Parts: sequence; structure tokens; C-alpha cells
Amino acid sequence: MTPSGTDPTRPLDLAGIGIGPANLALAALAHPLAGLRAAWYEQEPAFRWHPGLLIEDATLQVPFLADLVTLADPTSRWSFLNYLRHTQRLYPFYFSERFHSPRAEYDAYCRWVADGVPGLRFGHRVDSVHWDARHAVFALAVTRLTDRGETSLVTHARHLAIGIGTAPHIPGPLRHLTGPGDGRVLHSADYLSHRDALVTAGHVTVIGSGQSGAEIFLDLLRRRPDGREALHWLSRSRAFAPMEYSKLGLEHFTPDYTRYFHGLPEPVRDRLVAEQWQLHKAVDHDTLAAVHDELYRRTLGGGWPDAVLIPGVTVTGGARTAGRLHLDLAHREQDERSHLATDAVVLATGYRERPLEPLLGDLAGAVLRDSAGRAAVDDRYRLTLGTAAPGTGTGTGTVFVLGSERHTHGVGTPDLGLVAHRAAVILNTLTGHAHYPLPERTAFTAFGLRGTHAPGARRHEAEFAVPAEGQALPR
Ligand SMILES: Cc1cc2nc3c(=O)[nH]c(=O)nc-3n(C[C@H](O)[C@H](O)[C@H](O)COP(=O)(O)OP(=O)(O)OC[C@H]3O[C@@H](n4cnc5c(N)ncnc54)[C@H](O)[C@@H]3O)c2cc1C
Repeated sequence: MTPSGTDPTRPLDLAGIGIGPANLALAALAHPLAGLRAAWYEQEPAFRWHPGLLIEDATLQVPFLADLVTLADPTSRWSFLNYLRHTQRLYPFYFSERFHSPRAEYDAYCRWVADGVPGLRFGHRVDSVHWDARHAVFALAVTRLTDRGETSLVTHARHLAIGIGTAPHIPGPLRHLTGPGDGRVLHSADYLSHRDALVTAGHVTVIGSGQSGAEIFLDLLRRRPDGREALHWLSRSRAFAPMEYSKLGLEHFTPDYTRYFHGLPEPVRDRLVAEQWQLHKAVDHDTLAAVHDELYRRTLGGGWPDAVLIPGVTVTGGARTAGRLHLDLAHREQDERSHLATDAVVLATGYRERPLEPLLGDLAGAVLRDSAGRAAVDDRYRLTLGTAAPGTGTGTGTVFVLGSERHTHGVGTPDLGLVAHRAAVILNTLTGHAHYPLPERTAFTAFGLRGTHAPGARRHEAEFAVPAEGQALPR
């Protein structure tokens, strides 16, 4: 039976908050660890992975090997390949020669894991956490959400794993447009439930040129009639830019790069995250090619499709009238302003990390912070708690974060290719035992002068020697 943790003298070893891929990977890798008393809480009634964007042709941006477990433990029963075996689809998958699975298939795989791994409690929202000093445990205030109503409960745990993910972001100047919920202005996260209405709307504007914006523009383009597309795609970026997907470029999503990044000074880390937008914010090559192919196909009979793609333009505001929506546009390079009348707007304006503070309550004050007020996270994904923090003297009371550490761990933070590794680091740390032996080296690139070296690899001293201050490099 799954432990409950309701009795503070018999706490859970670990309570996970949120069940997205990050905490699901942790639960899957924790499953074989005998004796670990753990439970995870998720406010939604069941696992769903970004349901509003499971567009039929959309694929993962990472290979299928970036499932919940394989990159930490290829022998795990919760691997994607085992899911295929379970659903009797190994041979079709083998012949399909697909490295990038459809997004809907990843969702189905995760739901299979969520149905099988013990200790997952859906329909449970964690409202707050506080430190119970008497029992030296965290007390979690949880609301159980059912069709019949809500009930409150308290559960106790020695350690926490917070993986609460991101929430849709709408830029301030456009927030008032979302108004009455009539489906005329929506975030991309809600796309599929509004798609039928968008396909028949008079004119549609998609704002934002990340992966979601591109997929939605493509999907609408394919579904709206030839010659009467009536679509605008607007982007603040200078171009509809491709995602960096070269093999060496992808090494930014390795544990080696994460380690290197973590060791950099805060201002350098901040600069890098901003500069590296093309590693994660742009559009994959296949989607851009598909957009072009679809536009081209629509020219075959002569004429041009009624689809307008404008980069470098910011939507600075807008207004609703009874009939239409009016958007204010500013073109940065031309320094010009204009207006666009449209009937529906899809805001593909991204997501923001959910803040930890409302959950942590008083505990938030004990977390050490950087100069911008962001939580300090150590190399093992632990919030760094100040000396006045709970459990410091006894070595108990660890708060692990899964996804709130982009400022300390870099662009790989939300990447699915790192969820298994991060979960393995957390479990090894939590148990004090290397249940999951992890590779010493994961990239050919040696980030920084104190490069990483494969065990037994030849070391080129002249390349890696770091001179002491005032000394020259050895010749
Ligand atoms: C459309 C889309 C496609 C993506 N595709 C890729 C891809 O192909 N490759 C890639 O590497 N990355 C991709 N990402 C980025 C990233 O992998 C995903 O966002 C991923 O879902 C992050 O997982 P997570 O577990 O950190 O957070 P989430 O999936 O956001 O899950 C967090 C969960 O926590 C729950 N929660 C929050 N607060 C509470 C609370 N107080 N109590 C209980 N539950 C709570 C939420 O309900 C949610 O279910 C994509 C992102 C999006 C939006």
C-alpha cells in the first residue's frame, strides 16, 4: 500500500509536488528503490502533457531516447521501448524509422507510466508547505479535488521535490484583450479546443514565432481554403528563425554543459541564457520547411496565398469592438506604426516558470537568493537554505527543484533530454547511494579551460592547463 504520511511521526521520505514529465521521471526511477516511502501530488485529475497543443503532426523536439528513464537507466521497465512492447507496437516503430515521436505518442507513453508507477495522487493540489519543527518534517497542506467537492488533508515528508512547471504567459499590453472568454483571443496552450472556430473565423492572427506559433500557423494554413487563407503571422523576433540543431550545438543540453554553466558567475549566466535563445525558442527546420511547402503549394495555380508573415513587429496593444479586434503594431527596424483588424488572435507568447514562493510561504524567507532575488540552487538541484533554515543542524529538510533552475543550470532546465539524469542525481543524493551510476563525461566539447575528460582519455596539458594569476601558459 502507498504510504500516506498523514502521521508526522511516520513521514514520507519524499513528497513530490506536480506531476509533469520532470516529477514523473523521478517517480519512475524511484519505483525500484526498495524502502523509499514516496508520494507525488498533482492538481489535475489525470496526466496530460500540454493537451491544447497535441496537434496531429507535431513531434517531440528530442529523440525518443529522451524518455523518462532511458538516459539514466536503459534497463528500466518504464522506458519508451518497453511501452511500445507493452502496446505491441515495437515492429511498426522499428520500420517507421522515427527518431522523433509524435507529441501525442509521448503523452500516451507518459500516461502509461503514470498509470503504472505507484504513489501518484492526481486531483491533489498542494496549497502550501511549512516546516514542522517538532517532528523535523515538512507539512504539506493539500486539497483533494473531486467531482463531489474539496477536502483538506495534511501530509508529512522529510524531503520535497517541487516540479510545478510553467504557466501560459500573456504580455501585459495584450492581457485586456483576452477579456470575456468568447474564444476570440486565446493562448496557444488552449489551441485545440478552439481550432474548429479558428478554422472558420474571418481573419486570424497568430502572434509569436516560437515552435507553438509555427505549428499553429501551419495547422491553420493547411485547414483554411486556398486563396482565402486570411492569416497573419507576426513575430517580434527579427526573423522566423530556425532552432539550433547541430550535433555539437545540442551538447548544450548535456550534464557536462549544465555543470559548466552552474560554475559560472551570475552575470555571465544571465547573459548566456539571453544569448542562447536560438537553442530553445526558435522553430525546428522541418516545421519551417513545412510552412514554406504549404505556402508554395498554394501558388501552383498562379497568385499568392492570402497569408502575411511579418517578423520584427511588436504588438503593442489593441482594442475589442463589437465586431472585430484591432491590434496596434510597431515595426522596430522601420520605426513605423500601423494597425491590423482581425477576427481572432492566437497568443503564442510562451510560458513562465510558476513561482515557488506562494507554495513555500514562510520557508521562502530561508532560501538564499542571488542579486536578482532568485533562489540559489546547488549542483544537485537543492534549494540552498540559510543557516536559520529548518533542518540545517540535523541535515534534514531538503527541497529539490525540478524546472525552477534555469538561472543556475541553464537552457537545459526544461529539456526532456535531461529529466532522467536530473531525477537520477536527486535520487542518488537523497539516498546517499549511487543507485544510478552516471557518466563522468557526456559531451565532446570541453566547456571552459578546466575541461571534462573521459576516463582514460589522453589529456592535452597545453590545452587545458589553467595558469595561476600572473603566470603564462606552460609551453
Ligand atoms: C507545447 C510544448 C511542447 C514542448 N515540447 C518539448 C520537446 O519536444 N522537447 C523538450 O525537451 N521540451 C519540450 N517542452 C518543454 C518541457 O519539456 C515541457 O514544458 C515539460 O512539460 C516540462 O515538464 P515539467 O514536469 O517541468 O512541468 P509541467 O509539464 O508543466 O508539469 C508541472 C505540473 O505541476 C502541476 N502543479 C503546479 N502547481 C501545483 C500544485 N501546487 N499542486 C499540485 N500540482 C501542481 C501542474 O498542474 C502540472 O501538471 C515543451 C513545452 C511545451 C509547452
